[in-house]
Amino acid sequence: HRQQNVGFLKLFMVLVLSGIAMHVSDPDVPSSLRTLALEGHLSFHNISHAAKDFGNRFQFLPSAVLYPRSVADISATVKHVFQMGPRSKLAVAARGHGHSLQGQAQAPGGVVVHMKYLRATETQVHAGDFPYVDASGGELWIHVLLESLKHGLAPKSWTDYLHLTVGGTLSNAGISGQAFRHGPQISNVHQLQVVTGTGEITNCSTKENADLFFGVLGGLGQFGIITRARIALEPAPKMVKWIRVLYSDFTSFTEDQEMLISEEKTFDYIEGFVIINRTGLLNNWRSSFNPKDPVQAGQFNSDGRILFCLEMTKNFNPDETEMMNQEVETLLSKLRYIPSTLFQSEVSYMEFLDRVHVSEVKLRSQGLWEVPHPWLNLLIPRTRIHDFAKEVLGKILTDSSNGPILLYPLNRSKWDNRTSAVIPDEEVFYLVAFLSSAPSLSDHDSLEHALKQNDKILDFCKKAGIRMKQYLPHYTTKEEWKAHFGASWEIFARRKAIYDPLSILAPGHRIFQKKA
Ligand code: FAD
Repeated sequence: HRQQNVGFLKLFMVLVLSGIAMHVSDPDVPSSLRTLALEGHLSFHNISHAAKDFGNRFQFLPSAVLYPRSVADISATVKHVFQMGPRSKLAVAARGHGHSLQGQAQAPGGVVVHMKYLRATETQVHAGDFPYVDASGGELWIHVLLESLKHGLAPKSWTDYLHLTVGGTLSNAGISGQAFRHGPQISNVHQLQVVTGTGEITNCSTKENADLFFGVLGGLGQFGIITRARIALEPAPKMVKWIRVLYSDFTSFTEDQEMLISEEKTFDYIEGFVIINRTGLLNNWRSSFNPKDPVQAGQFNSDGRILFCLEMTKNFNPDETEMMNQEVETLLSKLRYIPSTLFQSEVSYMEFLDRVHVSEVKLRSQGLWEVPHPWLNLLIPRTRIHDFAKEVLGKILTDSSNGPILLYPLNRSKWDNRTSAVIPDEEVFYLVAFLSSAPSLSDHDSLEHALKQNDKILDFCKKAGIRMKQYLPHYTTKEEWKAHFGASWEIFARRKAIYDPLSILAPGHRIFQKKA
């Protein structure tokens, strides 16, 4: 009898170690996943990091994390899950740098693909008349920039923060102060390599598999995992003149912004932000702006008023300084900012583009980076931006001390309406980003307060009939998603049925349920 028991015990240990026991207790994690022949590997332990993101509010544990060495690894894993068919609930999420806000790059009980480990594509710059760079979907934009700069080149369109991945921002849009001229990052891609929801590896562009190409751009990871992207480049300037001016009048502020983005000869980057009830232009975590007159800028007091800061840059090379200064002067002379509030600085192009990282390092050292981020990003049509500002700035929001509020215009004509990105139905619309952070994980009051404010803002938009769209959208019901996509829902759902028929990919958005 004892011998039999020892035999059973041994068999049990073998089953546990080989994962078969897991299969017995959890049919969604089949032992067959472990038998996949991969160049990289799947990890079933130490996977809690894949259940975290920048938002720091949603945590869904996966069953496994794939560390891919090759595109074939990703394809094999997705194909395997696809071939298991509807009997398995297993889903697959690509994780870029995990800078999502509400679990969008997580896969509850599923497989998270750690895109950073995909080193199949070395970042390769192609100079010439129409320069471009080929980069892995898991590459950080900062690395794409560093590689491009070696050739005197740089991508044209950016996000404010560069420690995000190529695949992650292209799944959303990628918006910053250059988008008024070049469009968002999704308007600056020539070609993609994608692993679809059936595990197929497919190249796509405007000429080849165009429906997949446009679907994936801004497609929230729903149609394929971007494994490689070909990104347009331009000659990189060495320096930028970085300027901030202040307004107390919202109309002058927005009219000037709109004028600047409509001009042919204008700044190279145009953004803006709102200062409610606070002192100083410098203590904004989102940038390392260091003007020539730091004392005046640092002490600037809004005296309880709401102020609006217009932020601009002009690119230049050292031998063009004089011409650049003249152009800047001409442009500034057209603006109606408060005259004593012109703050300027000159920094390298690299320093400017990587500005948010400087603040990240500071905040990390103070334990203030990995805190909850109840962010809300809205795209507001131009015709309603005044109604929006009147109610939200000063009434719903009485200070901006929990984080920056960005507010700047974009133009629809620079967006390709064949992509999956959803934007308001007007030529000019505003990105309004409430980028608040709750000081600590345990400070539930400030988190609750910020979330309530977000709800109030969304409620107001609904009641006032403002046809805004959420950027980096978060919804919990299919009805809300349908409303978000509006007329393009049908195309979105059709593409899902073609490229990810079992709804395996990017479950964290909760748009589609895995087919049962
Ligand atoms: P993740 O958060 O890991 O993934 C985002 C989504 O894309 C998920 O659904 C994921 O499944 C999917 N995904 C990831 N990789 C791939 C892939 N290779 N193929 C297909 N799907 C994939 N955005 C702007 O537009 N402009 C800004 O200025 C800007 N500034 C930011 C500043 C900070 C500090 C932070 C934290 C975010 C900022 N963002 C900005 C938002 C950013 O674009 C999103 O967080 C985006 O999700 C990219 O982050 P990520 O690369 O970590 O992707």
